[in-house]
Amino acid sequence: MKRTWRLGLTAAATAVCLLTSTGLSGETKPKTREYFEDRGEIVWEVPTEEKWIALTFDDGPDPVRTPQIAEQIGSYDGKATFFVIGDRAAQYPDTVRRLAGEGHEIANHSGKHTYFSDRTAEKTIEDEIRTAKETIEAIGVRVAPWFRPPGGYYSERVVESAKRLGYTLVLWSWHQDTKDWRAPGVAAIVNKVLGNARNGDIVLFHDYGDGAGQTVEALKQILPELNRRGFKFVTVSELMQKRSRKDGPADKAGGDAGPASALPSDKDGGKHDYAVVIDPLRNRLSVYRDGQLYKRYPIALGKPETPTPVGDWRIVTKYKNWGSGFGSRWLGLNVPWGTFGIHGTNRPHSIGSDASHGCVRMLNFHVEQLFELLPIGTPVTIVGHPLGEPHQEPRGLAKGDSGADVMLVQSRLRSAGYLKGPCNGKFDARTEQAMRRYETDHKLPVDGVVNAHDYFALGLMD
Ligand SMILES: [Zn+2]
Repeated sequence: MKRTWRLGLTAAATAVCLLTSTGLSGETKPKTREYFEDRGEIVWEVPTEEKWIALTFDDGPDPVRTPQIAEQIGSYDGKATFFVIGDRAAQYPDTVRRLAGEGHEIANHSGKHTYFSDRTAEKTIEDEIRTAKETIEAIGVRVAPWFRPPGGYYSERVVESAKRLGYTLVLWSWHQDTKDWRAPGVAAIVNKVLGNARNGDIVLFHDYGDGAGQTVEALKQILPELNRRGFKFVTVSELMQKRSRKDGPADKAGGDAGPASALPSDKDGGKHDYAVVIDPLRNRLSVYRDGQLYKRYPIALGKPETPTPVGDWRIVTKYKNWGSGFGSRWLGLNVPWGTFGIHGTNRPHSIGSDASHGCVRMLNFHVEQLFELLPIGTPVTIVGHPLGEPHQEPRGLAKGDSGADVMLVQSRLRSAGYLKGPCNGKFDARTEQAMRRYETDHKLPVDGVVNAHDYFALGLMD
C-alpha cells in the first residue's frame, strides 16, 4: 500500500493548533504562559547569569514556623520573599514586622486566600489584593508590588486587576513546585529543589499548612547544599532587576524593582528582528536578521525515537552552563510537552553524527554566538513533518506519549469538535477520551489508541 502524507513538509499543522490554543483567534480562549511572559505580565522565573535563586513562602505568616524559616535563610546571609495572606498578617503582626525588619520581602497573596475562577468578578479580585495590601501597611510594613494569586490561578482578568493596583503577577518555576503543602516527605522536597536548581529560579514553599513542618526540615538540607553550589538567596525584587528589557507594560508596573538590566543579547536595543529556522534534513540552523539570511551553523538533532519537536516555537529561557551535557549555553524553547532547547556540547565530534534526545546541539562557540545574538522571544521554526519522514510508518500513539505527532492528532480532533482545551502534545486522558468518541462515531475499533486506521480516518495519511 502506498502511503503519502497529505500535508507538506512544513510546521503549519502544529502552528494552526498553537495559534488557536493561545487565543489569537478568539477573545474567549484562555491565554498561555507564553502570551503573558512575552508581555512581562506574569513572571515564572528570571533567567540570569548570576547564581541567584528566590525562595518564596506562601500562606503565612505562622508564628512558629515562619521565624524558623527566616532564621535559617538569614544564617546564610540570604533573604526570602513571603507571600502573606492579609487575614493572617492581621493575626500575627509581630511575625510580619520581624520578617521585614530582618530584610525579607513581604508580598501579596490576597486577603482571605479566595480561589479565583473564570467567573470571579473584577471587584472580588481587586478587593482581595487591596485588603491584603492595606492590612499589611496598617501594621507598618511595606508590601512589594508582587501578587501571587491563591493556587496560582491566573487569567487576563486577574492580570488586569492586579495591574490596576500596581501589581505584577509572580508565580514560580514549574520545576520548583515543591508541593510541600501536601506533606510529600522531607526527601521529596529536598530532591525537588536540589535536583532542579538553576540560576533565576523562583522556588515555591509554604510556611503555613500541613506540610510546613517538613518544609522547615527540608530547608536544613537544601540551604547548605545550594550555598555550597554558590547560590545566593535573593528576594523576588532583587531577582526582578535581572529581568531582560522588554517593552511590555509590566516594566512600568515593575516600579520599585528599579530598572531592568539588559541581557547581553539586548545590546543592540532590539534594533533588529531575529528568527531561527532549523532544517533537520540538512542538519543546519539558519539565523535570519530582518528577514535576510545572516548566519548558518551545523547542528545535530534527535534520534528517530526521540524526535526534535517540529513546529513554531520561541526562545523562553537562556542559561549559561546549565548542566553537564548541555555545553556552555542553553536556549530553551516553549515546547509544551517537555524540555527542549538549543545547546552546546563538550564533545564537538558528535555534531552531525551522534544523535541527541530531541534537542538541537551545536558547537559551544557557535551556541555562544547565538546566546549573545538572540533575545528571549525569538521565533524558532523547526521544519519537518510531525509524523516523521514520508517513507516511514508513523508511530502508534497511546496515553502517555508526547510529541508533535500527538499535537497534530489533537489539532485534528479539536477541529472535528472532539477535543476541548489546548493542543499540548501530551496524550492525556482527555485526548484518549476524545479519540474514543471519534472512533465510536467513525466505526473504528474503539481503543483510544492512534493506529494506521485512525491516521487514515483523520485524514493524516492516505
Ligand atoms: Zn496559597
